[in-house]
Amino acid sequence: VNSQGSPPMPFPQPVKVQEIRYTKIFINNEWHASVKGKTFQTFNPATGVKICDVEEADKADVDKAVKAARAAGQKGSPWRRMDVSSRGRLLHKLADLIERDRTLLAVGSSGLITSESKTQIYCHTVKCLGCHLKCFSFFFSDNTFMCFTKHEPIGVCGAIIPWNFPLLMFMWKVAPALCCGNTVVIKPAEQTPLTALHVGALIKEAGFPPGVVNIVPGFGPTAGGAIASHMGVDKVAFTGSTKVGQFIKEAAAKSNLKRVTLELGGKNPCIVFADSNLQLAVEETQKGAFFNQGQCCTAASRVYVEEEIYEEFVRRSVESAKSIVIGDPLDPRTVHGPQIEQKQFDKILELIDSGKKEGARLECGGAAIEDTGLYIQPTVFSGVKDHMRIAKEEIFGPVQCIFRFKSQQEAIERANSTEYGLAAAVFTSNLDRALSVSADLETGTVWVNCYNALHAQAPFGGYKMSGNGRELGEYALAEYSEVKAVTIKLTETQ
Ligand code: NAD
Repeated sequence: VNSQGSPPMPFPQPVKVQEIRYTKIFINNEWHASVKGKTFQTFNPATGVKICDVEEADKADVDKAVKAARAAGQKGSPWRRMDVSSRGRLLHKLADLIERDRTLLAVGSSGLITSESKTQIYCHTVKCLGCHLKCFSFFFSDNTFMCFTKHEPIGVCGAIIPWNFPLLMFMWKVAPALCCGNTVVIKPAEQTPLTALHVGALIKEAGFPPGVVNIVPGFGPTAGGAIASHMGVDKVAFTGSTKVGQFIKEAAAKSNLKRVTLELGGKNPCIVFADSNLQLAVEETQKGAFFNQGQCCTAASRVYVEEEIYEEFVRRSVESAKSIVIGDPLDPRTVHGPQIEQKQFDKILELIDSGKKEGARLECGGAAIEDTGLYIQPTVFSGVKDHMRIAKEEIFGPVQCIFRFKSQQEAIERANSTEYGLAAAVFTSNLDRALSVSADLETGTVWVNCYNALHAQAPFGGYKMSGNGRELGEYALAEYSEVKAVTIKLTETQ
């Protein structure tokens, strides 16, 4: 569905070969070489072949980008004078350009092409640009005072995003920031800089004033760290690991107490009751576990199954995992592609080994696919126990862990026994049970009889160490605006 709500358009096949057009730092709607003259390489994880060199932003480049963003957001600038409807028109124009270039963007996503191109993510990205345009305010009056609130931009919003959804994460940060009139300095992940840079070109083409969005490809501790600790950045939004989330919050506190929103990891539980539609539960939990090769903060990594249906659930899940089509991400039939990089690949295989050693039952998969880049077989473990590492640590790979439970209370306690609190799912045909379990789960999202059902209007974020704040919809607007209460003393009239 496009930004105007018209029906889905057929997704054309991604183009196989393209010239990489945008490899430089994007500041003030212009392409810049890095101040220190440094570049870094970007690779296709399906083949290991280098795609190109990209200009590497460091602190000096972030300083330039922040300066541009501050100037673009100054009072009286074209961006600050622009009314909400005109901002809306620009955002819709950008949505249309993303639709136009969706095949190029799919290839630019550096191996994550399968998931971002074939799913609803393009539609979601486009909707994300349209749904935030809403004004909200508060008005109060008595005989003595009249009070109203005014929502103002925060200023320069920094964003640091991961590699697992290069386009989607870009829009989750940039769309609400721009809707609220902020300017942006965004750092894409070092593994996937090209998608963001292509969107930079579209931002210019859409007609956004120079400096409104600036893109600084580079590494975490350097370019990312410079954003988090910058005195000229008023807010930072981060998606990635919990460990780096903690650094970001610390850097924000130690610099200028910039506002912080964090979307971090998850160890997301699904609870499957015996009264559920078994086939639906098998399909949804497995899609949840293997979507994007398991490289999702919402990965359904702990599946608790009621004992009456346990054996059958495991049998069907294994059958389903074995039928997953593995291949070239650019082949439209492919469902399962490579992991993003060697570091992640090694970490996943090490965790799979720990599962075997700690006594979980390996039902299928459990190894790399030889000689084919960074591919790992879809892996199913049954008989997983709560103390095992695969039950506790975020794997970020194609590994489904199946547990057995006896009572509702026990399932809820075990589901909640984690430092994370991002998402959860419950599968049951009993509405009362669905509602009471949803109430007891300590997570920012609960899906009932479905998984990964994200909506651009619904808030997304985590309890506990899965993050702070919410993205998407009206809740995101609150994270990207300052609220001013203006109180007027009324003249008393007798
Ligand atoms: P990461 O947290 O290191 O990287 C995410 C982003 O943060 C990247 O843009 C990176 O350059 C930046 N970054 C890294 N160190 C930084 C620092 N010190 N200061 C500022 N920015 C910094 O994640 P990763 O190394 O790519 O993956 C490690 C693990 O993180 C994964 O295995 C997975 O468990 C988790 N992860 C979660 C998500 C998510 O969607 N929540 C996304 C990616 C990774």
